[in-house]
Amino acid sequence: MEGKYANIIIDISHEKVDRPFQYLIPPDLRGELEVGACVTVPFGAGNHLRKGYIIEITDQAEFAPEKLKSIAFAEERDITAEADYIRLAAWMKEQYGSTMIAALKTVLPVKQKIKNVEKKDCRLLLSEQETEALLKSCLTKRQVAKARVLAELIPEKELPVSLLTGKLHVSLKTLKSLEAQGAVRISVESNYRDPIELMKEKKDVRSESYGVKKDLCEEQSFILKDILSAYDSGERNTCLIHGITGSGKTEVYLALIEEMVKRGKQAIVLIPEIALTYQTVLRFYKCFGSRVSVMNSTLSKGEKYDQCERAKKGDIDVIIGPRSALFTPFPNLGLIVIDEEHENTYKSESMPKYHARETAIKIASMHEDAFVVLGSATPSLESYYRARNGEYKLYELKNRQAGGALPTVYTVDLREELKEGNRSIFSRKLHGLIEERLRTREQVILFINRRGYAGFISCRACGHVMKCPHCDVSLSEHKNGKLICHYCGHEEPTVKACPSCGSKYILGFRAGTQQIEEVLRKEFPQARVLRMDADTTRTKDSYDEILNNFANGEADILVGTQMIVKGHDFPNVTLVGILAADLSLHAGDYRAGERTFQLLTQAAGRAGRSGKTGEVVIQTYDPEHYSIIHAADQNYQSFYEEEMLYREMLHYPPAAHMLTVLITSAEEEAGRELAQIVADMVKERAKEQKDGTIVIGSAPASIGKINDIYRYTLYIKNVEYNKLVDIKNMLEIYIENRKNKEELKKETLQFDFDPMSSY
Ligand code: ADP
Ligand code: ZN
Ligand code: ZN
Repeated sequence: MEGKYANIIIDISHEKVDRPFQYLIPPDLRGELEVGACVTVPFGAGNHLRKGYIIEITDQAEFAPEKLKSIAFAEERDITAEADYIRLAAWMKEQYGSTMIAALKTVLPVKQKIKNVEKKDCRLLLSEQETEALLKSCLTKRQVAKARVLAELIPEKELPVSLLTGKLHVSLKTLKSLEAQGAVRISVESNYRDPIELMKEKKDVRSESYGVKKDLCEEQSFILKDILSAYDSGERNTCLIHGITGSGKTEVYLALIEEMVKRGKQAIVLIPEIALTYQTVLRFYKCFGSRVSVMNSTLSKGEKYDQCERAKKGDIDVIIGPRSALFTPFPNLGLIVIDEEHENTYKSESMPKYHARETAIKIASMHEDAFVVLGSATPSLESYYRARNGEYKLYELKNRQAGGALPTVYTVDLREELKEGNRSIFSRKLHGLIEERLRTREQVILFINRRGYAGFISCRACGHVMKCPHCDVSLSEHKNGKLICHYCGHEEPTVKACPSCGSKYILGFRAGTQQIEEVLRKEFPQARVLRMDADTTRTKDSYDEILNNFANGEADILVGTQMIVKGHDFPNVTLVGILAADLSLHAGDYRAGERTFQLLTQAAGRAGRSGKTGEVVIQTYDPEHYSIIHAADQNYQSFYEEEMLYREMLHYPPAAHMLTVLITSAEEEAGRELAQIVADMVKERAKEQKDGTIVIGSAPASIGKINDIYRYTLYIKNVEYNKLVDIKNMLEIYIENRKNKEELKKETLQFDFDPMSSY
C-alpha cells in the first residue's frame, strides 16, 4: 500500500491505549507495508522500542511531518492471523462506526493474565457403593487420610488436588496410593476446563433421543450435496436455508460440518444464546466429541481466551456459541453457520454495532476457503431479499421431520369477545381448549408477546391504534400526556375517545406473565402452572430447570415471554395460546411487522411436534393485519411480499439502508442543540449532493433519558450503504474537531446501521 505515514496502535492488549499514533514510513518500507502489519517503533519520551500494528496508511500527516518519528523496522515473522483481525477491526470501524480500539477489543480476545499453573484434579473412578465399601475398609485399616479423601469425594466426585493437599492436609503420597488402587485418577489438566464437560455434569432427561445421527431425507441430502459440489468447484456463495421449524436444519448443519472437517476445515456455529441449551450442544458433541467446544457468556475472559488458544492450536474443529464466537481464530476456517439468522441478538448493542451476518461474510471472504450458511424458519427480510436477488443461494426445507402436519391455527378477534361481554384475558375458544387439554393430560404453552412494547395506545372496541401520520409507526404515550412519534418527533395530545369509533376503551396495554399466572390459578385451579420470564430466569440454571421440569411433565401449563418460543421440543405440547399478538405490532419501529410474524410463527411451531396434531390460538385486536394473517397461514412468502411493499414505499431496509444516529448529552439543551446541528449538516449535504439521501428528525428518542443522559435521534436513509458511511465519517470528523476545541465535553454520537432495536 502506498502512503508516507502509518497510523499505528501500540500493544493491542493494552486497555488504556485509546488512539493510534502516527509514524513516518521510512523510504525503504514505502509500498511494502499493509494494514495489519506488525512493526517496531520508538515510543514515548524514552523512545523505547515497542511493537505496534498498522491500522491505516495515509498521505495525510496529522501534525508537522518533521516532528514524526520513524518506524524502526517491520517484523519479519508471519503474523497473518493478527493482521487479518486488525483488518477486520478496521473494516468494522469503517462500516459500523466506532473507535479502532473498540473494534479491536471486539475481534481480539483480551488476554487475561492468568497464572499459568498446572491445575490437577483428583477424580473418583468408583461407584458410590464401591466407594462406601472402600471407605469402610480404610477405616478398619486405620487409613484415616485415605478415608478422609474418599468421604470428601463421595458428594463431589472430583476435587482439585491443591484443595486436598492444602486445606485437608492429605499428602500427595496418599493420593498416589489411592490412584494405584484404581480408586481415583489424578489428571494433569491444562488451565482450561472443557465447557462441554461442565455441561455434561448436569443431568438432562431430554438428551436421550439425540443419540443417533439421522440418515438425511431427500430434501436434506439434496441441500448437502448441492452446497458441497458448489464448494468443491470453488464457489463461496452465502447460502440461506429456509426451513420450517423441525424440518431438520440442524441435521443438515451437522452433516455439512462433518464434510468440511473431512476437508481439513474448521467451522463456527452461531446459535442465539437463549437456544444454546445442553440439548443442542449435545447433538454436536455426539457428532464431534471433544473436537467441539462451546463459547458462552458464562465463561470468564480467561476461559474464552483458552477456547481461542485451543482453536488456534488445532485442538478443536467446531465451536458453538453466540455472536462473539464469530471471532474464534481457526487456522483453516471453512464454514460459518448462523442458525436462527433473523434473531435480534446477532446485532451488537454496543459499539461497534455490527451484525454477525455481514461480519461473518466478511470473515469468510478473508479466508479464501470459507463460506457462510444462514438458516431460519422465518428469515430476516434482508436475507430473503438478497436470496431473491441472487446474492445468496436459497434452499428450502418444506416438511417436518418428526412432527407430521403443521398445527391448526385459530385467530380470535378480541373486539368480538368484548362485544359479547367477555373481558377475561382468555377468549372463550382458548378457555375451552385449555380445559380440554387438562382433561386429556396434554400440555399447554401460553405465550405473551412482550417484546417491543413501547406504550402504544389502542382501542379495545375497534382495534384502532394511534399512529404517526408521517412515518406509519405507532405513537407512544408519554407521562406528560402527549403522544409522540420517535422517528420524526410528531406530537399530538392523547385521546379520551377513539377517533375511529368513539369508544372510551382506548388505552395503553398492560398485561404481564404474572397477571396471567394469577388468572390461570383462578380460572383453572386444578392446573399446575410454571412461569418463565425475566424474573424467574435470573440465572442460566433456572432457565434450564424450568424447561426440564416442564419437559418432565411436572406442569400442565407453561406461561412465558418470547424466551419460551426458542427451538425447544416438548412432545406433549398440543396447544399454544398467543395472548397479545398485537403488542409487538406496535413497537414503534419499522421492524414491528416482521418481528410479530417471526414470533407468532415460532410460537405456533411449538405445538404438536411429535405425531400429535397441535392447535394454536392467536388472540388479537387486529385480525386483518397481514403479519397476523400470514402467520396464521404459516405462509412466509406472502408475508414477505406484503412486508416488502411497505419497506419499499417508506425506504426502510432492505429496500434502502438506514442509519440511526443517537445523540446523547448530560444537558438537555446542549443535546437538543447538537442534534439539530447534526441534522442540519446532513440535510445540507443531502441538498448539495442530490444523492437521494432522506433525513428524518432530529427527535427525542423513545427513551428520552437514561441515567440522566438525554437522548436524541436522527434517521438517515439511502439506497447505497456507502453513502451512509460517508455521512458517518463526516459526522465523526465534526465531533472530533469540536472535542479537540473543547466545545463539546460529554456529548456523544453513536451510529447504528440498519438498526434492529428502537431508541
Ligand atoms: P430444525 O433445526 O430445522 O428445527 P432439527 O434438525 O432439530 O430441525 O430436526 C427436528 C427433529 O427431527 C429432531 O428431533 C431431529 O432429530 C429429527 N430429524 C431431523 N432430520 C431427520 C431425518 N433425516 N430423519 C429422522 N429424523 C430427523
Ligand atoms: Zn375504536
Ligand atoms: Zn413520525
